[in-house]
Amino acid sequence: MVGSIEPVGTSFQSAIAERNGDRIAIAMTNGTTQDRTNRFATRPSLVTNADCVVGIASLLLWVPVPLYTPSTKPPFARTVVARVRDTLCPMPVAYSWKLLRAAEFRLDGGSMFGLIPRTVWSRTVPTDDRGRITVQHNCLLLEGGGKKALIEVGTGDKLDAKSREIFSFENRSIIDALGEVNCPPEDIDAVVCSHLHFDHAGALTRLPRPGEAPDWTGPASGMAGSRPDHGVKKTFPKAVIYAQSREWQDALANKSVMTRTYFKDHLEPIRDQLKLVDSPRPFPFGLPPNRDDEPLLSIADRETPLPGLDGISVFLTPGHTWGQQAIKFTDTEGRTIVFTPDVMPTVGHVGAAYSLGYDVEPYTSMVTRRWFLGAAADNDWLLVLDHEPGNPCQRVRRNEKGWFDLHSDS
Ligand SMILES: [Zn+2]
Repeated sequence: MVGSIEPVGTSFQSAIAERNGDRIAIAMTNGTTQDRTNRFATRPSLVTNADCVVGIASLLLWVPVPLYTPSTKPPFARTVVARVRDTLCPMPVAYSWKLLRAAEFRLDGGSMFGLIPRTVWSRTVPTDDRGRITVQHNCLLLEGGGKKALIEVGTGDKLDAKSREIFSFENRSIIDALGEVNCPPEDIDAVVCSHLHFDHAGALTRLPRPGEAPDWTGPASGMAGSRPDHGVKKTFPKAVIYAQSREWQDALANKSVMTRTYFKDHLEPIRDQLKLVDSPRPFPFGLPPNRDDEPLLSIADRETPLPGLDGISVFLTPGHTWGQQAIKFTDTEGRTIVFTPDVMPTVGHVGAAYSLGYDVEPYTSMVTRRWFLGAAADNDWLLVLDHEPGNPCQRVRRNEKGWFDLHSDS
């Protein structure tokens, strides 16, 4: 029988279950956005065949009852679960994909490398005469299962001339990049954003073309001029837009170390397109992990399949923002692709302490980078780095120094 369950902190994804006096950490779900496999406990306790039956019944009936996996016999229970899941769930969709470049721009090198001295990072990363480094808006166009999905959209076209000059923006956007592969934005069925800063989600809306009526009107954002009658259109009118609930809440509350990055004119107009997910955190709230700690739950137990988008899942990579997520899918060549957000934006950020000045929690970024790179190496993921101006496709290998090296892939 299953004992009582109580949430840990403010996270409803983690909980403590009590059974026969044993208290264990488990992963739970509270909505429709989670993989059924996340309903099962991943920390050991006692288990019996009856527990397995309860777990399988919970899976069949969609009831959030945890199945306890014993420390002595984990293969048995997990094999049962895997068999039932594989029987009930069809093989995930595999995607073909294209890398889209949605505009080169420049960011201050000091901000991008945080506390790393310029004398160190500038040995390998060139700067312009204003101390800026070149970065890209890397986006992916996926096709599979009868759908077209876009991972990331970049800044878009709403910045005014002054802001464009500060960042030396190339005069193009995701719309141009999609046009080059003959894909109108109106054909996009789904958009997945790693987080909602302007350089990742700004292009969810665009300026109206002559004769077009805006979908939303309001004050221009801080980087889009000062017009009170600023109007925007939805860039992807039929798309479902996926983000983490935590990211959306923080974006609305402007919880950032930057004063100007979450803007109403790229958030408010797309409210009715949103589908928010709640992935389990790598570590519980309120208890900072040790710097070399591994998360209690594996990636498989923390990733959230996106509802309505078979074969694409997300998992939290906190530090840059609390709600930042990586995006994972299998491609038609059988490779596991992981779109890598600002936990490691370029190949120059592979070092342990290479957190960004823009990060809300640099220490958390460092901890996240370690387990993320470890998972990438151990699972042979092909990473696509979000801001790398060169080849963003990288494999990760462990090195003799106890850290990681990157290897360019195609
Ligand atoms: Zn960001």
